Amino acid sequence: MMGGNALPASGVRHDGPRQVLADVFGYRQFRGQQADIIETLIQGRDALVLMPTGGGKSLCYQIPALLRPGVAVVISPLIALMQNQVDALRQVGVRAASLNSTQDSAEIRRTEQAAATGALDLLYIAPERLLTDWTLQLLDRSRIALFAIDEAHCVSQWGHDFRPEYIRLGVLQQRFPGVPRIALTATADEFTRAEIIERLCLAGAKRFISGFDRPNIRYRITQKQGSPREQLLRFIRAGHQGEAGIVYCLSRKRVEETAAWLVDQGIDALPYHAGLSAQRRQAHQTRFLREEAVVMVATIAFGMGIDKPDVRFVAHLDLPKSIEAYYQETGRAGRDGQPADAWMAYGLNDMILLRQRVDGSMAGEQQKRIERQKLEALLGLCEIATCRRQTLLKYFGDDLPQPCGNCDNCLTPPQVWDGAEAARKAMSCVYRTGQRFGVNHVVDVLLGKTTERLMALGHQHLSTYGIGKALSAAAWRSVFRQLVARGLLRVDAQAYGAVKLTEAARPVLRGDVALMLRKDAARPAPTAGRERGRSAALDAADQPLWQALRALRLSLSKAAGVPPFTVFSDASLLDMVARKPCTLDAFSQVHGVGAVKQQRYGQAFVEVIRSALGGVIA
Ligand code: ADP
Ligand code: ZN
Repeated sequence: MMGGNALPASGVRHDGPRQVLADVFGYRQFRGQQADIIETLIQGRDALVLMPTGGGKSLCYQIPALLRPGVAVVISPLIALMQNQVDALRQVGVRAASLNSTQDSAEIRRTEQAAATGALDLLYIAPERLLTDWTLQLLDRSRIALFAIDEAHCVSQWGHDFRPEYIRLGVLQQRFPGVPRIALTATADEFTRAEIIERLCLAGAKRFISGFDRPNIRYRITQKQGSPREQLLRFIRAGHQGEAGIVYCLSRKRVEETAAWLVDQGIDALPYHAGLSAQRRQAHQTRFLREEAVVMVATIAFGMGIDKPDVRFVAHLDLPKSIEAYYQETGRAGRDGQPADAWMAYGLNDMILLRQRVDGSMAGEQQKRIERQKLEALLGLCEIATCRRQTLLKYFGDDLPQPCGNCDNCLTPPQVWDGAEAARKAMSCVYRTGQRFGVNHVVDVLLGKTTERLMALGHQHLSTYGIGKALSAAAWRSVFRQLVARGLLRVDAQAYGAVKLTEAARPVLRGDVALMLRKDAARPAPTAGRERGRSAALDAADQPLWQALRALRLSLSKAAGVPPFTVFSDASLLDMVARKPCTLDAFSQVHGVGAVKQQRYGQAFVEVIRSALGGVIA
């Protein structure tokens, strides 16, 4: 096994990009615009690449790095991310290294030496280190194949990932004219894109813009019913048993409780939030990265800089605060391009809680108004009955002409009903009770309950008392939730969560408009999502082989001290199950098997496959 610092011997190749794709990375075809981007760099031109996560940005500079003389310098903001890339490249025999603050001086000197003498193909480096005189002088002495600026949106002062050092990366153009540069990002809107071009001096760069969509992620948003934790457990058991996932909760307390409860249910869950010691956080993060079936229950403190490609689901037990946050958090699922789930359960109380947070925050009025609008857009996404992906992409200015076919609303179109009359009853009751009570009390009045409080208030004498007996309490809560989501009712934080009518309620009260409401699913079908699980996608007969291959991958990765996905991706293991190669020759055909992995791992995997088939062949 290759030690941490040993660099495999390769050199400039004389074959073409396709050959490198096959020989080194073990893939047959380029995806999307990869081939054009690679060609652009090989010709020495600059490129700006906007590609969704999982789209395959890395190969766009890794292949030119192998085809142009000199070392490719990759600027990346996060050490964990760099380390993963270096591990993965070394696994395929590419001479890659990184320079970062966690290394000792001997190691740093060795890497610098390798860069200057042409013994490196790729050098990963953080921007602040790159911009030191020391490093710039090192690069002056080295032959440079290209510069790749990853996470290029970090130049934007308006974004949440702003890195001041990124702004200074413009100097690369003056200092190293003639060295092609490529800037890559998954998150730039048009405004950020313009900023990247200006600040990084990329006006002449060829642009490759491919949108935001993450087609492999299946979006599902469901209502909380009974115990949300039970709903979560059913979701995990139905399609994600033994797989890695992230569960987001709003508070530390809820994180702790949910993680402990999942462990009791036999799920390998760990908590992660800012209240844990740095040491424990690190330990949990490492287990999540290095193992395959850890479920991280976390506040939003977790996620930035976690580059784990085989996260099979992201679940929200609490609402995120905006569509942007939702998209970013769910975007951590399925970075390897394999099927993944984004699942969320929410209820009326979540809406009220978030509304109260915004109203009660210290922010200025204008800021609050923006936050309220963002929250409303998110609630709209939760309540729509049409394609979720179309709505999401539209929010970001992207147009998906057809419904996606891979979200809950596309797969099982929700039933809708004419809720105009129910809405009128609900609103009248809010009005009659003086707009001073929370949803629970108003529902009690509608249902004609005889609670002590209700009687004491004399609400049994109201004209709206008992007019809602045709619907259940749950159905009424659903009506209220949708009215709040549509901005017809609002919940007043200052008045202890009292529901009030808004201006927009008038036409509905007058009966001028139709109002179609979503019917909440009675209870999510227990099998929903079953077809999503990696292992569940396999024939029962293939299960033992799949498990044996995963076990081998894990033991090999442990021995090498690298994450399992750098040994082989899930896609590669699934292809092995499908092909069942019993010879090294056949093994070389497997997705993701290049020359080095074939040599390094072929024998071990072929043996496991043979012995799994032993019973069948004999
Ligand atoms: P990004 O950086 O855009 O999020 P990556 O570069 O990490 O995406 O690629 C995502 C996954 O897709 C990786 O597992 C990568 O090996 C794989 N991949 C990229 N290009 C191809 C290709 N042409 N064929 C098959 N797999 C690919
Ligand atoms: Zn859809």
